[in-house]
Amino acid sequence: MVKSHVLVIPFPAQGHVIPIMELAQRLVEQNVKVTFVNTEVIHNIVTSNWINKDGYKDLIQMVSLPDGLDPSEDRSDLPKLVKSMSQSMPDKLEEFIKSVDKEDDSKVTCIVVDFTMPWAIQVAKNMGIASTTFCPASVATLAGILSVHKLLDDGIVNDKGMLLKDEMIRLSENMHPIKTSNIWWVCFDDSALIEATFQLVLEAKEVSNWPEWFLCNSTTELEAAALSAYPQLSPIGPLLASNRLADQVGHFWQEDPSCLEWLDQQETSSVIYIAFGSFTLFNQTQFEELAIGLELSNKPFLWVVRPGMTKETTTTFPNGYMERIGSRGRIVSWAPQQKVLAHPSVACFMSHCGWNSTLEGVTNGLPFLCWPYFGDQFQDKSYICDIWKTGLGFDKNEGGIITRGEIKSKIEELFNNEIFKTKALDIKKKVESSITKGGSSHSNFCKFIEWIHEKDSHAKAQLNQ
Ligand code: UDP
Repeated sequence: MVKSHVLVIPFPAQGHVIPIMELAQRLVEQNVKVTFVNTEVIHNIVTSNWINKDGYKDLIQMVSLPDGLDPSEDRSDLPKLVKSMSQSMPDKLEEFIKSVDKEDDSKVTCIVVDFTMPWAIQVAKNMGIASTTFCPASVATLAGILSVHKLLDDGIVNDKGMLLKDEMIRLSENMHPIKTSNIWWVCFDDSALIEATFQLVLEAKEVSNWPEWFLCNSTTELEAAALSAYPQLSPIGPLLASNRLADQVGHFWQEDPSCLEWLDQQETSSVIYIAFGSFTLFNQTQFEELAIGLELSNKPFLWVVRPGMTKETTTTFPNGYMERIGSRGRIVSWAPQQKVLAHPSVACFMSHCGWNSTLEGVTNGLPFLCWPYFGDQFQDKSYICDIWKTGLGFDKNEGGIITRGEIKSKIEELFNNEIFKTKALDIKKKVESSITKGGSSHSNFCKFIEWIHEKDSHAKAQLNQ
């Protein structure tokens, strides 16, 4: 039987590709044909880092479109990348969809688009194709975006998105109060990036009611208050490969699985796992303070030091560091994070609080040491420390540095106070219930699948008339 066919389009960033790839795999499991559309650069990175390279070809058709920049241009310049994609990709996407539709059994039933790609929703509308938005960030973050006009009207931000009033507000009556300085686009230290992100927010808000579905990588068990204010959102998360006992895919770097063997040799609930996602950059002073703080903690640790993680060209560890930590510390350049967090030896997660990392830690019942860096990470930290109370944040000194002493002392506090682990296990149970049969996220996903198949049958019935 010819299957429903869904085109899936993520934003070209690690924290977007991984959860959308997981969504794509779940669609495949439900007898949906999936074409996954990356930019060329990300397509090459993802397919070359896919460990079981033959596996994906059977599951998902991976395709790519140019992002409009020259091959040598810097894609970490996000304002430039976003502008280039929105100018050059709509025509390419339309052409691609037309070419796919020509093949009799491949007509696109629906496109699933990352909410940071509003131009793709516009393409779907122009072509009369059903669309669905997917938000890989928290609903609280999304709430800031959906409330952008209220924030402008209330004079919280100006028309360039810059923060004017630093205060606590409620975005809706039932939601937890949030700090205006934690609103997603405000939390960048570069005004060009704030302006570009704000422009994207306005465009995303404008098309936010067009798609038939607005899926979120969240659950009512974690964000009941925020979700109650936005009934149009359908939480289907946490979308983690580890919940299906499958491998997390879509990595931008090659995972180092040897750290799992090292974890096997450690005692239960003894290891600190330290990872700051795919964007975070450290200066050399801060990097050394962290290294020494971990050394002083006297605990086993597994630390992800991504290539290019420090602002300097090469990352330098303090003198004699590797010899001193010996086998007590393990440093890798990229970890199979979901497997690491599910490992019984891991005691806690020192994290930048990206939403995927937050969900991955929460799902595994882990307490957090929070080190947010930019964007939505401050809002996520606020969930962890102020609302779920499953972790502690680090305080900076007058020079803006998180010192070795602060790191050592917060590690001790987290290990010595059982309340964080108890609360983390309690939330884990609730989250588990939402993704198992009958749970809220599971039911929403089933309804979404039914809708896709109905949409497809309807389209085919019309063609046959
Ligand atoms: N990740 C990984 N290995 C690592 C570090 C991170 O697989 O060593 C994955 C992690 O599991 C998560 C994603 O990269 O799914 C990072 O997304 P997140 O939203 O946490 O942070 P971002 O990179 O967007 O800042």
